[in-house]
Amino acid sequence: MTKIEKYSIGVGDRFAHQARAQLRACLLAADAGMEVIPVWNKSNREHMIIGSEPASLRAAADEAVRELGWTKPYHVDADHINLDTVERFLAPSDFFTIDVAHFIGKAPEPEALESFVSRSPELIGTLRIAGIDQPFTTTRESIAQIAGKYLFAVQEAARIYRHIAARKGEGSFITEVSMDETDLPQTPPELLVILAAIAAEKIPIQTIAPKFTGRFNKGVDYVGDLKQFTIEFENDLAVIVHAIRQYGLPGSLKLSVHSGSDKFSIYGAINRAIAKFGAGVHLKTAGTTWLEELIGLAEAGPGGLALAKEVYAKAYENRQALCEPYASVIDIAFDKLPSPAQVQSWTAAEYTAAVRHDQACPHFDQNVRQLLHVGFKVAAKMGDRYLKMLEECEESISRNVTENLFARHIQPLFLGSSIPAQSVS
Ligand SMILES: [Zn+2]
Repeated sequence: MTKIEKYSIGVGDRFAHQARAQLRACLLAADAGMEVIPVWNKSNREHMIIGSEPASLRAAADEAVRELGWTKPYHVDADHINLDTVERFLAPSDFFTIDVAHFIGKAPEPEALESFVSRSPELIGTLRIAGIDQPFTTTRESIAQIAGKYLFAVQEAARIYRHIAARKGEGSFITEVSMDETDLPQTPPELLVILAAIAAEKIPIQTIAPKFTGRFNKGVDYVGDLKQFTIEFENDLAVIVHAIRQYGLPGSLKLSVHSGSDKFSIYGAINRAIAKFGAGVHLKTAGTTWLEELIGLAEAGPGGLALAKEVYAKAYENRQALCEPYASVIDIAFDKLPSPAQVQSWTAAEYTAAVRHDQACPHFDQNVRQLLHVGFKVAAKMGDRYLKMLEECEESISRNVTENLFARHIQPLFLGSSIPAQSVS
């Protein structure tokens, strides 16, 4: 069976130009004695906005691996797919993130619900989970209520899983189930019921993306209660260990943290929690690399800086439309955004200081950063003009891409070091 390795990082590459720079961050991790496996991920939504094909992500990944001589595993993730969208991802992907968040709360067939509850007596009564201090008390009714909320979504995940397995062959790919794009975090009994149902449907799940407490806004730090996050994250790890044993789920099963880039304030907690449980983790990052492209462009010289400013100006003009699909994952104070005319007057240093995610820098501007995060459609519309400039400015871009992934993500999360201020000179 294709197994996910213990530590992995999802790297998004919107314009398929940064795979080498991203892989270099994993090579730096290897030099530091840590195996962090790259997983190139791109959602259907991103492909639609950019107008790219999933096969292009595979080609870029393969080429980077060949050029840099990477001999460890790597994967290509069909991110947030469903039955309607999975088709063109089948051939190039070996990792599938089955997104069933939209099916949470849909009522399952009464017979299916009844049968699940009847076959799950171990869920009813006093639930003791090693690693969680207090036992949970459940009843047939409370488990039926939880299953009523999640069973249909799990059945949908099973339909999608079987569709992929029929086409690609069982065991030839990694399966993730994501339930992160929903309102409320799952409680430990909820997560346990979900995993029990997934096991009953015989989905060989290897990563699961639950909803965590707090806000995971795109491109900026975590907003929420760090203490509560830590408790919930550790509880999730405890439930996973329990479910692997109880239901015979794959031993490689681990948590997947979506919108995981730039969540600097929780990396320490995650690092300590996975060490405590001996657990692995998958961190999905996406737009953080696209923002480094803009930073690298701005640093590269007048042509790159002009283009980076143009991206801001157009993103500003179209801010309502660009932000709309991401409304639940961004918090932009529109009245605090600098005007395009102001940005036009910025030096390269001023532009990069505003965008680079260095919280110690007084010129860092999270409104600008979030707007640009969702502004990649602007660059996509520039077409070849944008891609050509990426190639011209490759040196400064790839330096920033590698440094960002390694120093601000891999080091604090997997190696437990603190995030250096102004890590890129
Ligand atoms: Zn996600």
